[in-house]
Order: sequence, then C-alpha cells, then structure tokens
Amino acid sequence: MKTKKLLNLFGGAIALGTFGVLLYLENRRPLRRRVESKLTRSSRNLTIAGLAAIALQLAEQPIAAPLTKLVERKNIGLLKLVRLPGSLEAILAVLLMDYTLYVWHVLTHRIAFLWRFHLVHHIDLDLDASTALRFHFGEIIVSALWRAAQIVVIGVSPVSFAAWQMFLFPSILFHHSNVRLPIDWEEKISRFVVTPRLHGIHHSTEREETDSNWSSGLTVWDWLHGTLKTDVPQNEIIIGVPAYQEPIEVGLTKIVPLPFGKQKSAWEFQPASNFNEIQTNKFELDNSHS
Ligand SMILES: [Zn+2]
Repeated sequence: MKTKKLLNLFGGAIALGTFGVLLYLENRRPLRRRVESKLTRSSRNLTIAGLAAIALQLAEQPIAAPLTKLVERKNIGLLKLVRLPGSLEAILAVLLMDYTLYVWHVLTHRIAFLWRFHLVHHIDLDLDASTALRFHFGEIIVSALWRAAQIVVIGVSPVSFAAWQMFLFPSILFHHSNVRLPIDWEEKISRFVVTPRLHGIHHSTEREETDSNWSSGLTVWDWLHGTLKTDVPQNEIIIGVPAYQEPIEVGLTKIVPLPFGKQKSAWEFQPASNFNEIQTNKFELDNSHS
C-alpha cells in the first residue's frame, strides 16, 4: 500500500513536471502553427479537462481502486494465475494495460456511440499538451467500464495500476504536444514510444491517416497490427475532423453537448468560410520550420 502511495505521488510530480517542460518547449520549438489563439484554446481545453477530472473522481476512481484491491485479495485475473515476482507482474500489467488501451482507442473510433464522445477530443483544431487533457466527461464515464474489465481480466493490483498511470500520463502529454524534436531524436524515440509527429498523423483530417497510430504508449502495438504510419510529411497534415473545421463549431457551448445531439457526417469535408486562410497560415509556418 505504501508503494502504491509513493508511486501515485511520484507519478503526479512527473506528470506535472512533464506538462511544464512541454509548455516551455511548445513555445520555443513549435511543430505546427496554431490555428486558434493559445489563450482561447487553453481555457476551453482546461474547462473540458476539469469536467473530465470530476468524472474521473466520480466514475473511474470509485470503480478502479476497489477492483485493484479485490484483484490483490482474491488473486483474480490472468497475471494471478501464476505466482510472479512483484516487479515482473507490474511490468506485464503495464504492457497489457497499454495493449488493451490500444484496443479501446480503436473501438472509440469504430463504434458510433463511442465516437460521439471521442470526437470531442479530435475536433480540436490544434494539437498540443492541452489536447491531451481534453476528453469529454462522457468518454471518461464510459471508459470506466472498460477500465474495470481491464483490471479484472488482466489481474491488475493497486501497485501495477499506479505504475501504469505513472507511465501513461506523461506519455499522453508528450505525444499530443506541439514540440518539434530534432528528427533523428524523434526517429529513435518513436521506435519505442509514441511521439508528437506520430500522433499528429492520428489527428489528421485524412481518414486513412486518422485510422493509424492508435497506440497511447508503446508503438509496438501499431507495429504488430500493421497500423503504424510514419510516412506522412508533417507540413501536409491538417489537424482536426473534416466536418468541424470552423472555429465557431468547436467552441465550449458546442462541444459539451456535442455527443448528445444529432451527429454530422464527420469525415465529409465541409469547407469553412476561412478555410483557405487557415491553410495558408499553416503551410507558411511549416515551410519556415522545415
Ligand atoms: Zn483517437
């Protein structure tokens, strides 16, 4: 129990530190030009993040914490079938949680009901560390059920769960960030974990590009499934979803109720009045940085 508390504390400090460093680097070395003002977007994304944090406390925590304790007490799940050394069990648990999160991510795109919620994350017109926190509270509530299944089927103990969270949060912040890493660094890092350029491809308005790079931690899952995509020049990527390219459509009052209303055909491109202007700006920046 003490180890779990230490991991939680350490994990919180790492996540906060990562967020701070990424904010600094996004300012110094941006990968993509911003479409919307940083202040408008950040306040919008942090509001959505605040609602998500409440949902996490009310929906996921009360389910996940007791379940991990139950797994430990009653030896439930795959990893409890054999007696493994604690550290090996934690490593395997993190790997299996990461893989099953890959599966969940694919489902949020493939199942219409789940896509209603995940769409809110994808229609951000820019992609940076604040996007990593921008998940609709509905997605958090629904994913709590998946989390419960992950814990029980895999056999995730409280320590393993804390270790997975410690790995996941900095990883999500990092690959959503708008940081231009030196290309040789990015190539090396992306052999192991998801990087900003890789995840930028997943947030593209091109359906074929969005349907790739689903991993949230290790890139090996995309590699094994043949869904790893690396050959898209960053300056050709337009961030967002085709049917939601107008800034007016991605305001707070539109995106909070979005999952509950009538859905547009997301992948049908609907030109925005200022679309040409947006694209000109983006390519100008891409050229100046490449
Ligand atoms: Zn996605």
